Amino acid sequence: MSDPWAIVKHFVRCYYCKKAVNATEAGVVHDDGPRTFIPERTTLVSCDECGGPLVFRQYQADGDAWDDMDRVWPGAPRRLSWSIPKELRQEHAEATKCLEANAFTAVVVMVRRTLEGVAALHGIAERNLMKSLAMMQDSGALDPRLVEWSKALRVLGNEGAREYQEELGSG
Ligand SMILES: [Zn+2]
Repeated sequence: MSDPWAIVKHFVRCYYCKKAVNATEAGVVHDDGPRTFIPERTTLVSCDECGGPLVFRQYQADGDAWDDMDRVWPGAPRRLSWSIPKELRQEHAEATKCLEANAFTAVVVMVRRTLEGVAALHGIAERNLMKSLAMMQDSGALDPRLVEWSKALRVLGNEGAREYQEELGSG
């Protein structure tokens, strides 16, 4: 039997300290109810160095083993569905890492590659990404809001930005 009052430590990456630290567990919620596909547990810890609160989630692996602790707050890197092809998840994960490292130009490159990958998956290979996204929107493969956000974020490079200006009637 484990002692419910024992102090439990975790070795995690602190969002505030920007490094790996020891952290003290403050609470755990286990969830294997009907709404969860895989049993999961959510853990609140405090960083032993700065005292800051951090929340992590883990999914159950084989038997009693648990996957790595993924930070869900603050500044959670978004976890994509397993139904998304591995290559796209990798591109997205790399974009997220670049963002955490403040490498913004690299983020744009990775996001662009991810979007090109999505287009290719849908069998669309237009001469530029804006046209590919527009085609995916027309076919219903892409929510129109995502296309608008892409334009607003200017992730599509000069070519796309120029086209967008033309659409607005200023080009
Ligand atoms: Zn810290």
